[in-house]
Order: sequence, then C-alpha cells, then structure tokens
Amino acid sequence: MEYALEAGEFTVYLQPKYSIATEEIVGAEALVRWIHPEKDIISPGDFVPIFEQNGFIIKPDEFVWERVCSLLRKWIDFGLSPIPVSVNVSRIHLKNNRFIATFDRLIEKYGLDKRLLEIEITETIDNINAENMIKSLKERGYMLLMDDFGSGYSTLNMLKSTPFDIIKIDKEFLNEFMLSDRGKKIISHTISMSKDIGLGLVAEGVETKEQADFLCSCSCNVAQGFYYSRPIDIDAFEKMVFPPMEA
Ligand code: C2E
Ligand code: CA
Ligand code: CA
Repeated sequence: MEYALEAGEFTVYLQPKYSIATEEIVGAEALVRWIHPEKDIISPGDFVPIFEQNGFIIKPDEFVWERVCSLLRKWIDFGLSPIPVSVNVSRIHLKNNRFIATFDRLIEKYGLDKRLLEIEITETIDNINAENMIKSLKERGYMLLMDDFGSGYSTLNMLKSTPFDIIKIDKEFLNEFMLSDRGKKIISHTISMSKDIGLGLVAEGVETKEQADFLCSCSCNVAQGFYYSRPIDIDAFEKMVFPPMEA
C-alpha cells in the first residue's frame, strides 16, 4: 500500500453531478482508484474496507483531498468557473479531530473558498464524537453531505441532530424503493421532507431515464449515476466540463 501510494498508483476519478432539470453539470464527486500495474484498475470497494481495518485509509484519503484542492486551484488559475467537488471522509477519520486541521490547511494552502470543497460523510450511529466533529466542520463553513442516506447508517435521527447541508440518497435505497408504489411514495416524501427542513438533495446511482424522470417529478434537484456519466479520469472530466473555446 505504502509503495503503491509512493509510486503514484492511486489516482482520482471524478463522477459528474447533474442538475436533473437542465442536465447541466453542477458538481462532481472524487472517487479513488488504484491503477495496479498488473491488475489494471482496482475499485475502492475492494480495498477501502481493508484500508479501513488496518488504518491506512487516512493516507489515500488525504491524497485525494489534496489532489482535488490542487485541481480546483488550477481551474481558478486558468480563469475557468470551478464547480464544487466532493470528497469522501472515511469513518476512520471521525475517531480523531485531526482531519479537520488537514482540511483547514489544504484550504489555506490552495487559497480556496470552502464551498468548493464539499465533504461527504457517512455517519455512524454509535459515534458521539462524530457528531461534535461534524458540528465543528459546519461552524468552520464547510459544506457537508450526508452520504448513503436511506442505507443502514444514515437515518432520520441523524437529520434531527447533525447539521448537514445536503443529503445523498443511497443508490440501493433508490433502486429498491423505485420498484413499488409504496416505495416511490417514501422516496417522494423523503425528498419533500428534506426540502422542507432546508436541505439540498443529490440522488445517487441513477441508472435509468425512468428514475431520472421520477426524481424530477419529486423536485429532486441533482443526480449522479451511470445514466448521466460513470466516474471518469480528470482529463476526460475537464474535456467534458470545460470544452475548448471556439476560435
Ligand atoms: P460512495 O461514496 O457511495 O460512492 C458512490 C459509488 O457508486 C461509486 O463507486 C460510484 O462509482 C458508484 N456509482 C455511481 N453511479 C452509479 C450507478 O448509477 N450505478 C451503480 N451501480 N453504481 C454507481 P466506487 O467509486 O467503486 O466507490 C465505492 C465506495 O468506495 C464509495 O461509495 C465510498 O464508500 C468508497 N470510496 C471511494 N472513493 C473513496 C475515497 O477517496 N475515500 C474513501 N474513504 N472512500 C472512498
Ligand atoms: Ca460518497
Ligand atoms: Ca454513497
């Protein structure tokens, strides 16, 4: 792992987030990839859980955060209008508040507006410290996204107690609940309830036009999923978002 990180085998892919109404790209999520010289691309599902067990995850996470900050800085320096990019924070960081200083340092180093670097957190029910850390991030002005809403961990209770700005509707939740009328009603009411308490929404794992149309009819603003685009490398992303200007 250490060697792979040193050797530059970890890289950042970006998956665009789309406005459902206008189909414009309004943001992106950074997702780590391990480009192994012999095994091609290893997806995070295969190594993040292991790195969380042995504690190594801190390093690739920090690598991703720094890569994203330097990219945002590059876009600004090129005179492009940067779009916010979200990064994932492993639950391992939430055991210790050091990661907050890491974010502050990166924002300072790259001279960024905090709203450009969005922070995705999957909160766990059992960690009372996590709640304080999330509050502390919020007080410092960071944009906080509750990841995997509707999955086992992110529950209604979290909405009451922690100051998230945006919730990300979990892809399994969306897929499963879309299958029945009753499920659809639950999604639709979840969306209106979230809006009612002032939260933004991103639907994750949108794979079909039917899902996009349904979400649009529920006034969900933003979607991310294979229907729109898979996660892509940074070069491909830049070509997509900042097409070269006509001469
Ligand atoms: P996540 O944070 O929930 O990220 C969304 C995952 O859903 C990504 O998988 C993305 O490629 C996938 N996805 C997006 N749209 C669709 C769709 O329409 N259909 C389906 N089936 N999948 C879709 P990915 O990149 O393999 O990442 C898996 C998980 O690994 C992430 O889930 C996150 O928990 C973790 N992960 C990824 N990058 C990082 C990272 O930099 N740091 C940490 N700590 N965890 C990461
Ligand atoms: Ca995420
Ligand atoms: Ca998620």
